[in-house]
Amino acid sequence: MKIRVLGGAREVGGSCIAVETEQCKVALDYGIKLDKVTDEYPKNFDAVIVSHAHLDHSGSLARLSKSRNKQVIVGSKVTRDVTVDLLKDMIKIQSSKASEAVSYDESAVNKVRDSWLTSESVALPGLAVELYGAGHVAGAKMIGLSSEGKTVLYTGDFCIHDTEILKGCDVDALPESPDVLISESTYGGKVRPPRGELIDQFLRRVSSTMKGRGNILVPTFAFHRTQEMAKRIDQAMDSGVLPRYNAYTISNLAQKINGHFNANKHLFTEEIQRQEHPFEYKYVKHVERTTDVEEPAIVVCTAGFGHAGASLSLLTQWAEDEENNVILTSGFLPSDSPLKLAKEKRYFRVDGEKIPVRARFDQIELSGHADQKEIVQLVSKLKPKRTFLVHGDMEQAKALLKEISEMTEVYIPEKGEGIFV
Ligand SMILES: [Zn+2]
Repeated sequence: MKIRVLGGAREVGGSCIAVETEQCKVALDYGIKLDKVTDEYPKNFDAVIVSHAHLDHSGSLARLSKSRNKQVIVGSKVTRDVTVDLLKDMIKIQSSKASEAVSYDESAVNKVRDSWLTSESVALPGLAVELYGAGHVAGAKMIGLSSEGKTVLYTGDFCIHDTEILKGCDVDALPESPDVLISESTYGGKVRPPRGELIDQFLRRVSSTMKGRGNILVPTFAFHRTQEMAKRIDQAMDSGVLPRYNAYTISNLAQKINGHFNANKHLFTEEIQRQEHPFEYKYVKHVERTTDVEEPAIVVCTAGFGHAGASLSLLTQWAEDEENNVILTSGFLPSDSPLKLAKEKRYFRVDGEKIPVRARFDQIELSGHADQKEIVQLVSKLKPKRTFLVHGDMEQAKALLKEISEMTEVYIPEKGEGIFV
């Protein structure tokens, strides 16, 4: 068996790993880079197995429509449904920008949908594929492969801790002693405070801005993080932890994804499963546009990096007032994003106009990734013979390597390098 990391080697973004056996060639993930040009991956796979719907793992799938091979795509049902929505949305955004060439259309996305197998256990010629719950986001799976007497487990993105809506990865359900564990290492060098503490910090911050009757902007991604934050705010208002306040989500895409979540309640925590339509909120209203927002308000909206959509218009509208508060829940911001500029340089530009920032900025990292402690926990439970670290920059991967090198043989592959297993 030969493993070659085609994307996501020593960096985050554009994940794609080729696994070749005597009889069969598969790709694990087929993503795009969110802030750089994405490589064209080979298209001659028998199957592409997708860990989860985030575009850095699934965003290149529509390119497969140009392949002469007829390959199957394997992944969970929610991953399929959300990926299709996200890809269609991406085409819409690209078509609206004259500067960006759109290389495929909706029919390519429909082809992705039609070639998708949602079974969690698939037999390919000489290669068995098995999917395991990964936590991280709804529908996310780890991918287990066995062929030629060897076993490989690819984590995709994962977390062991539970979040507000989702159960973490059940480590006891994973196959032990794989020959190779391919693990993400996004936070390989970092130990985060417990999730509960971060949520309390978020709610205290929100409550304090509400006392001053300020507006609160929470820029997020339409998939999973919007539902997580909206549900948390809704529950806090219901239980009296937060006062009743105008609260909104603005994202038609998120609204569509709510439908997939409501239809797949079994993926979520027991508390969520007990509710009839858990992602129809009691206090958080969905509105179509920013002009429907009654101030003061808390708004959870896209785009997550504030470079477009409702989050950019509300940032522009609210940045200059010191009563207002922007709360970032993600650790990563592209260097040229308006949110990064606004937070660090205290200004940003819209259509060439310089906008000064007086609003308060907070960053509370509510990540769905395992931190160093969780990755170490995974390795010590599974006892892989060898561990390859991907999906993390070199600094994070090296810090993790130090922590696990006594338990397993660790390697940080370079892009394109072929490794025989
Ligand atoms: Zn992810």
